[in-house]
Amino acid sequence: MSDDCLFCKIISGEIQGDVVYQDDDVYAFRDINPQAPTHILIVPKRHIPSMNEAASGDAELLGKLLLAAARIAKDEGVSEDGYRLVINTNRGAGQSVFHIHVHLLGGRQMGWPPG
Ligand code: 5GP
Ligand code: ZN
Repeated sequence: MSDDCLFCKIISGEIQGDVVYQDDDVYAFRDINPQAPTHILIVPKRHIPSMNEAASGDAELLGKLLLAAARIAKDEGVSEDGYRLVINTNRGAGQSVFHIHVHLLGGRQMGWPPG
């Protein structure tokens, strides 16, 4: 838990989030400003600021994020048509909240390359 982290506050319930999934390690909630019909953020309950701070000891936790994302995509009904998982890392890539999160985007056709 980081005291000044928005996503830690959502995980703790201090700030309300529209939760779609959680387990011991992972928390997932709907993005407040959705960029696709399905836009869910999948985060580790443990505070890690970005992929730049992720270490080899976090390998299992990071894998759990991806597997949770795939499960949520299925539950949301977007897995067959397709979905995109995005991890923005640092400002140049558009990261604005410094608690690792996987964006799950689906429900529309995605362009490539991403902007
Ligand atoms: P980033 O830009 O760091 O990759 O993604 C941060 C995401 O968090 C953005 O898509 C933004 O819409 C979302 N976000 C920012 N504040 C809140 C909030 O208070 N609640 C929720 N559910 N999402 C938020
Ligand atoms: Zn945090």
